[in-house]
Amino acid sequence: MGTPLDTRDEQVAAVLDRLYEEYPDSTISLNYSNRLELLIAVILSAQCTDERVNKVCADLFETYETPEEYANAPQEELAEAINSITYYNNKAEYIRSACADIAEKHDGEVPDTMSELTELAGVGRKTANVVLQHGHDVVEGIVVDTHVQRLTRRLGITEAESPTKIERDLLDVVPQSDWQQFTHLMIDHGRAVCTARNPDCDDCVLADICPSAKPDADVDLASGEAW
Ligand code: SF4
Repeated sequence: MGTPLDTRDEQVAAVLDRLYEEYPDSTISLNYSNRLELLIAVILSAQCTDERVNKVCADLFETYETPEEYANAPQEELAEAINSITYYNNKAEYIRSACADIAEKHDGEVPDTMSELTELAGVGRKTANVVLQHGHDVVEGIVVDTHVQRLTRRLGITEAESPTKIERDLLDVVPQSDWQQFTHLMIDHGRAVCTARNPDCDDCVLADICPSAKPDADVDLASGEAW
């Protein structure tokens, strides 16, 4: 088991230093060419891999371009176009409804505030944060997805369980200038090394400061259960 640094600020600083070194080009892995495409890709990415979303969006973005086109697409037609994505029926409904609101209430533009974004169907704080950061260059918070949730708990940076509470904890200890990159670094490390089922602690640059590091640690702090 690794030994975390004395304070959470120090722990975060060390994690950031090392992961910046490991993943110098870390960034969002969804493909999009405008804010509407970004919003749609992020809605589709909930509980689905970015790889699959990119594949589906390559055709989807050729078929539909404007908010009106999505809003006016028949539910079955849009669902069919995204049917390899998890929860495609619900997501088709969200997209049609969100795009109707964008067309009618926002002059066809994807809104640029947290409150307006989270009023759109299918858009929670996480989706809104991604759209604000990558679509509008507004960094209001830290995106907490499943990788951020797992890694921050494993690394002893938070003990909170819900994404909302984890974000609150992180905002206190992650320097504001790193809010955006923090998420991408966690996602890259979560995909490459600290995977959900079988993290490769032997080959992890954080092992000496990670209280969950196998084989010495008995418990995975992300789940609270024995490894
Ligand atoms: S791979 Fe292992 S040592 Fe590295 S952060 Fe994950 S649990 Fe900790």
